Amino acid sequence: MTPRKSPKAPPFCPNPKCRFHCGATTSWRWVGNGTFTSGRSRRSTQRYICLQCGRSFSTRTFRSTYWLKRPDIFFRVARGLVSCSGFRQLAAGFNVSPQTVARHAARLGRQSLLFHEQMRSKKAVVEPLALDSFVSFTYSQYSPTHFHFAMGRDTHFAYGFTESQVRRSGTMTPGQRACRAFLEDKFGRPDPKAREKDVAALLQIVGERAARIDLTTDEDQAYPRAIRRSALPIDQSTVSSKAPRTTSNPLFASNLHDLQVRHGSSNHKRETIGFSKRVASSIERMWLHLVWKNYVKSFSEKTRGETPAQQAGFTERKWSFREIFRRRRFPDRIVLPERWKAHFAGATPTWGFGSGKNNPLVFAY
Ligand SMILES: [Zn+2]
Repeated sequence: MTPRKSPKAPPFCPNPKCRFHCGATTSWRWVGNGTFTSGRSRRSTQRYICLQCGRSFSTRTFRSTYWLKRPDIFFRVARGLVSCSGFRQLAAGFNVSPQTVARHAARLGRQSLLFHEQMRSKKAVVEPLALDSFVSFTYSQYSPTHFHFAMGRDTHFAYGFTESQVRRSGTMTPGQRACRAFLEDKFGRPDPKAREKDVAALLQIVGERAARIDLTTDEDQAYPRAIRRSALPIDQSTVSSKAPRTTSNPLFASNLHDLQVRHGSSNHKRETIGFSKRVASSIERMWLHLVWKNYVKSFSEKTRGETPAQQAGFTERKWSFREIFRRRRFPDRIVLPERWKAHFAGATPTWGFGSGKNNPLVFAY
């Protein structure tokens, strides 16, 4: 009889309540619990039991594709979502339901956020920043959403974002005004200070531990208020939003990012029918896009050289989606800022979101 090969040691216990989930694993004891084969690959998978908490798990528990029926399309969905494909298009291409793609997209977004935070938290900001808000809408044009981005002015590294749901403004027909009044009567008016509060929240995340921050914004009055609210040592300079959007504009990193998001994400195209129906889902796609831009895509399309993350000193190499998402990251092992915990949980409510026949916006689209 050939002696049984002992299974490869698992990295930690996947049970967040177990002391060997986050703590040192030198005294951790576990046993192998046989193998099983399943799924399309029919590959054999090792099972384990944690002798501390009794949790049963397998090598698959540590892969970002755990429990997915179609793990084979996970990376392709990631690439599709940053190349301007909608959920339905991808679903048709892979012969799966749009809900399957939506589930993959949500997980990709959550894993992107954890990966980025693991990288970003390595060091404080040292370069000058550009801050600008990307304007889109979620669910209907009556609920505009602003995504506030802090960008490295020299490296184009996206440090992070927060979002605000604001009141629809601009030119409206009398009918549209009446519709807005009707919705505000039903759902309440969005917080007029949302932008100021949400930009301050972003600055607090990004500016934590920084000695001083050199920040460029446009002349929007919400920014100085947000800076005061953040109580951080920030030197602000402003550029008119009418200034030419060339490479010498100090907001170039923001303007370029804006363009890249619109170009690469089908849900933010103007006049699209593929817009996001929920803010939470829009946030998840934004995180995936951010990770792609920071760690996968070259700083310059022409030279195909370093990524923004390499330029900003957060990593020494270029990453592929496959490398980033191979290993599952656990939320209890990476400390997320409070605001981004809500992003991770998909807990951001969508203003004006009703359902079925009670939904007053159904007539609009
Ligand atoms: Zn355990």
